[in-house]
Amino acid sequence: MDDNNLVDCSEHGRVPSSIVCTHLLKFGLTERVGFVLCDDTPDDLVAWCSACDELARQEGPDAITAKQLRVVCEPCLFKIRDFQNTPD
Ligand SMILES: [Zn+2]
Ligand SMILES: [Zn+2]
Repeated sequence: MDDNNLVDCSEHGRVPSSIVCTHLLKFGLTERVGFVLCDDTPDDLVAWCSACDELARQEGPDAITAKQLRVVCEPCLFKIRDFQNTPD
């Protein structure tokens, strides 16, 4: 892994980067928006919410544009995943 894949997180320090949709970034730790991991990108973890997944299924993954995706640190992505996967 090269330095391009590292990101500075105020909480987790210098860690590998990953990508989530803006909805997960905004609501991922406060609301149940769903968490879908896209495994067709081996170098980067990419995850998006249920609504984005629905759109990707209907219109293809290209429907999720770069505008809707944000770089986050990997531990932060896992934090969001854990929240989304924890039952009420
Ligand atoms: Zn989304
Ligand atoms: Zn972090």
